[in-house]
Amino acid sequence: MAISLQLCQFNVPQFPAEKGLFPRPKPYVLRCSAAGEAAPLDGKEFRHNFMRRNDYNRRGFGHQDETLDRMNHEYAGGGIIKKLKENGKQQTWGEVTVKLAEAHGICWGVERAVRIAYEARKQFPTQNIWLNNEIIHNPTVNQRLQEMGVRTLPVKEGKKQFDLIGKGDVVVLSAFGAPLEEMKLLTQKNVDIVDTTCPWVSKVWHTVEKHKKEEYTSIIHGKYAHEETVATASFAGSYIIVENMEEATYVCDYILGGGLDGSSSTKEAFLKKFKFAISKGFDPDKDLEKVGIANQTTMLKRDTENIGKLVESIMMRKYGVGNITKHFKSFNTICNGAQERQDATHKLADDEELDLILVVGGWNSSNTLSLQVIDRPGAWNSFILD
Ligand code: SF4
Repeated sequence: MAISLQLCQFNVPQFPAEKGLFPRPKPYVLRCSAAGEAAPLDGKEFRHNFMRRNDYNRRGFGHQDETLDRMNHEYAGGGIIKKLKENGKQQTWGEVTVKLAEAHGICWGVERAVRIAYEARKQFPTQNIWLNNEIIHNPTVNQRLQEMGVRTLPVKEGKKQFDLIGKGDVVVLSAFGAPLEEMKLLTQKNVDIVDTTCPWVSKVWHTVEKHKKEEYTSIIHGKYAHEETVATASFAGSYIIVENMEEATYVCDYILGGGLDGSSSTKEAFLKKFKFAISKGFDPDKDLEKVGIANQTTMLKRDTENIGKLVESIMMRKYGVGNITKHFKSFNTICNGAQERQDATHKLADDEELDLILVVGGWNSSNTLSLQVIDRPGAWNSFILD
């Protein structure tokens, strides 16, 4: 029997025996503003000024080497990973052969975010330190930060408790970033801001800002309640968030006036279906004439590409091939870290010797879930351990 390991985000030191595979915990979910609210600010200009404040830091505090040493020590993979690495990523124990994915473990953006949060603790040893969200979706890391006194803002009745943040506190923005409204709120408090937003995430923000400037609606491939997508949507003008091909097909069918999947929906049905996933005042009759594609960085690349191709073909059908650039824009905003792990998992999925793929990561991590769905139906099951 052969199994494979794909480690997402961090090599966890152990698999907690007391945790069963099921039930799956609910993802951490929050929208900052009321669903569908349009960004009230010019995102580009606001962020430009935000990043030039004296109390703003996004590079860390000069303790990089010692912090990385500490992280390597705290999160080093256990004996299995060490053995696999020493043996060319393959090892046999009894009748079981285990292979390790070529790309695995912590991505660059996560390492950077966690390092900066650790450095913030060292830099501000006595201040209250708050995280606007879990810094990443990895229970081991989040637990460790809580133990260090870096607390995630509690959520009550769907609202983050910003009132708990006092003058002189420190606020760490997670790797997923923060919605514009949250950043604006923080500028009104006398706090130090430590911004760990992954640059790949801010690249998507630039993309939706371009759409906004040119009056294209952003079709964002992502999960509308995921922190990263909430932040991205806050930088967009008009937007709609689609999670999968089924939702993209529904939108395309509406654009064509029905006929793509044999059904056509009414405007009311459309607005009801996407009520949490559209900008304020979204009108599908007007706001789907010019569209651009963006995505949550960790979605499955092939899905984003397929959604982009579908939308492009529909716009060509409706407006003519010669007019496509006036009605459709697409940029690749899948991050390298996510892509390398997806490619490595696809490679494992093509390995016919394997009976099982174990994905090690957080249940509520989009990165992890994207890896979990890469499989060969009927050939094996894939599981997530966190
Ligand atoms: S966007 Fe990519 S590199 Fe950045 S934290 Fe997420 S997975 Fe890692």
